[in-house]
Amino acid sequence: MLTQNLGYPRIGSQRQLKKASEQYWAGKIDLRELNKVAQAIKEQNWNTQLDAGTDLIPCNDFSFYDQVLDTSFLLGNIPHRYSAVLSEIKSNQEIDLYFAMARGYQKDGLDITAMEMTKWLDTNYHYIVPEFNANQEFRIFSEAIFGEYNSAKKLLGEKAKPVLLGPVSYLLLGKEKEQGFERIDLIKKLVPVYIEIINRLRLQGAVWIQLDEPCFALDLSKKEKEAFEYAYRAIANRVSGIKLLVATYFEALLDNTQLAVSLPVHALHIDLVRAPEQLDEVLALIPERLKLSLGVVDGRNVWKNDYAKSLVLINKAVEKLGTDRVLIAPSCSLLHSPIDLELETAIDPEIRNWMAFAKQKLTEVNEIRQIAEGKTMLLEANKAAIESRASSQKVHRQEVKKRIAAISEADATRKSAFPIRQRLHQQRFNLPTFPTTTIGSFPQTEDIRQLRAMFKKGELSLKQYEQAIEQATIETIRWQEEIGLDVLVHGEFERNDMVEYFGEQLDGFLFTKNGWVQSYGSRCVKPPVIYGDVSRPADMTVRWSTFAAAQTDKPMKGMLTGPVTILQWSFVRDDQPRETTTNQIAFAIRDEVIALEAAGIAIIQIDEAAIREGLPLRKAKHPHYLNWAVKAFRITASGVRDETQIHTHMCYSEFNNIIEHIAAMDADVITIETSRSQMELLQAFAHFEYPNEIGPGVYDIHSPRVPGTEEMASLLAKAADLLPARNLWVNPDCGLKTRKWPETKAALENMVAAARMAREQI
Ligand code: GLN
Ligand code: ZN
Repeated sequence: MLTQNLGYPRIGSQRQLKKASEQYWAGKIDLRELNKVAQAIKEQNWNTQLDAGTDLIPCNDFSFYDQVLDTSFLLGNIPHRYSAVLSEIKSNQEIDLYFAMARGYQKDGLDITAMEMTKWLDTNYHYIVPEFNANQEFRIFSEAIFGEYNSAKKLLGEKAKPVLLGPVSYLLLGKEKEQGFERIDLIKKLVPVYIEIINRLRLQGAVWIQLDEPCFALDLSKKEKEAFEYAYRAIANRVSGIKLLVATYFEALLDNTQLAVSLPVHALHIDLVRAPEQLDEVLALIPERLKLSLGVVDGRNVWKNDYAKSLVLINKAVEKLGTDRVLIAPSCSLLHSPIDLELETAIDPEIRNWMAFAKQKLTEVNEIRQIAEGKTMLLEANKAAIESRASSQKVHRQEVKKRIAAISEADATRKSAFPIRQRLHQQRFNLPTFPTTTIGSFPQTEDIRQLRAMFKKGELSLKQYEQAIEQATIETIRWQEEIGLDVLVHGEFERNDMVEYFGEQLDGFLFTKNGWVQSYGSRCVKPPVIYGDVSRPADMTVRWSTFAAAQTDKPMKGMLTGPVTILQWSFVRDDQPRETTTNQIAFAIRDEVIALEAAGIAIIQIDEAAIREGLPLRKAKHPHYLNWAVKAFRITASGVRDETQIHTHMCYSEFNNIIEHIAAMDADVITIETSRSQMELLQAFAHFEYPNEIGPGVYDIHSPRVPGTEEMASLLAKAADLLPARNLWVNPDCGLKTRKWPETKAALENMVAAARMAREQI
């Protein structure tokens, strides 16, 4: 039985790549130094995987920014607007063109926008979206893959396995940049370049090649399925003497199973962590010639593998296929896991014993193979860890479980229907038409971040820290009053991050020191780990919300993060459904909402920034997810009196097919990101006759650009054409914490003026 890995984190255990790239961009180091750092990371990764006993070790999984951008670069898919960069770049360094595509280029009189970025399937990793034109051509442009293979081969010999994004997924993950063609039709032009690449790697000595086809996890049209058939038949016809492995992950193959097993390749990888149930069907359909790679170790989470469970799957496969036709692997690339648990010396040892990061996961893969081959004594330590977690009081809290088990419809329903609540709110707040507000955070300046850093290091006392935060809060409130905003916020200066802030105060969460994962480019995130039943030992935000409310006569919003967003941006438990964990968080947030109300806060916003990104990959699974996600939100919102106004905020708001679920959240007010679509996203709300109040963002906070008054007023007019004016609020697209003060002030002054202008027009 062979073992393999599909991909290893490329940021370096100390985030060396982040630091080196940022220095390179700032002109502080040159390309030679950047390459040195990259080479050291690659070699360290390869050695780690060798030491772990991995048989097939990925190369070309390294990337200076993103593997999809690498693929565009390899295939010569470089949008025309960058040709100017290539001639400008004095050093003539290919990598500067590459970074220009990733980050945009503003130098030497050029101002070229970056390529679009979006989430990699259902992960929090972002890739650079390939752009396609009707007369798109492909050719080998970058030689990087061949160089990387050579250097891997020196160290790893035949174990070096180049990884490529497969041709069908490469097309499907991109976008047409003009009308009149479908990108999937480019497959005929694309495949010959893949054949050339594969043949070159074969000549260099590659024995295996991994082609990632994550789009096998999606709903595919007939044409897309045909593209798979065509591409792999064409490749098989023109390539021999090399073993092709097609890797799928993040979801079951479902109706794509027959297609996947019939591809003329050497091996197929399936994700048995997300979808263990698919093994039976795959085994039933698999032809004699095909090997099967079993993804049994979770590449997306931080928990130790349950060997006994994995062995059941492996034994089943071996029984049908024999050991020669089975490979053992992580479920997907380890890109999505933190790197090394050994660096986490501060985690409670009992809990640490339940965890595994990328490096440990490879050891697990190897141990599982050894056990499957008869070395059963390795089972004991694993079994002890699994049992310790299953029975630990740190995980299991009866009072929390009881509360979740007793959820009733009443827990998730406001006392009166929206029209009644709306009348009460009008009486209570007496707001003008088009009331103005913001989403919560104000600029987190260097000063504020430094305060927090000094406080954490013990250089500031709690009192000094809080006084400084109070000062920033007061100034922000004064300023909001001056410019005439109607509903104020406190600015969130006391918060590092909207999930971490709550995780730190809830039971059942832990934080790592080095558990970084790449989010995009040089940006890394360190998600909290939810290990146990979640509860709220004390008030979390009451102190700051009441402090802020006392500074003004205007309504002050209390500001909370919703349960789905907390779940979505954390590593979660794998020993209970996500739904259960979400409900536990929901009750903790509900109690906080009630505490805020009791403390006199009249408007409470529960952000569900990530509700849409939690959507399952397959449409058939959307309703189930949306039902529990929406219910969790309602649990948080339904413990208060009718007079209390509940807001929610959602980021990316393409809600076309799910608007009924958004309406079912029954928030009194929702503020959403819409401005970049020129209010187009509101059409779905209009069509549905969305009944509650809504604040479509009138300006994009992701750029420093200051929008003009008229521009925002005309967006408002557009919104008022679509929805009843009395239901409309005026606000930016999202929180302002990434912005600087000057543009924030200018933009919000214009926004308030735009609301006034719009009021006069109705
Ligand atoms: N209240 C949060 C803020 O303003 C919301 C952020 C978000 O939606 N991502 O920062
Ligand atoms: Zn947002």
